[in-house]
Amino acid sequence: MTPKNPFIGTQCRCGGYLIPVGVAEAYCDACGETYRVELIVNLTQHSPTGEQIEAGVFDLPDKEREELRKLLTFDELPDLSEIERRAEKIAALASKTRAKAAMIGGAPFLMGPLEDALLEEGIEPVYAFSRRVSEEVTGPDGTVTKIQKFRHVGFVRPYVGVI
Ligand SMILES: [Zn+2]
Repeated sequence: MTPKNPFIGTQCRCGGYLIPVGVAEAYCDACGETYRVELIVNLTQHSPTGEQIEAGVFDLPDKEREELRKLLTFDELPDLSEIERRAEKIAALASKTRAKAAMIGGAPFLMGPLEDALLEEGIEPVYAFSRRVSEEVTGPDGTVTKIQKFRHVGFVRPYVGVI
């Protein structure tokens, strides 16, 4: 079987090519071994949760992460050219990584242009979907407290198959 879309430079220890499954998993076409691959760059203001990291999300290096934080923050009403400029700069940060996909989120007016800029770079924009769950925690004195937690469920992939 010829790999249709092997991760660039990513090979199995047996020498076979890794074939992507979903956005963060791959299998070797030679020996069948499966891998979890960190291929979703985090382009949101928030740190990825443990479950998102498990699903393949990674952060930009510190310096780029700081730049991202500034690019995602709007203190003044932006015009369209400013929004486009920010989207392109953010996509450029992502393109310097090995990311195949980018987890995005933030100001709604930025998301459309950011999706376009990422697609230009060949990076699939994805959105994390979380579900709020409540858990009961029993304290040492026997009192029960309800706490709210967010569980990562998966990624919404509007452009799956487009790239
Ligand atoms: Zn292999």
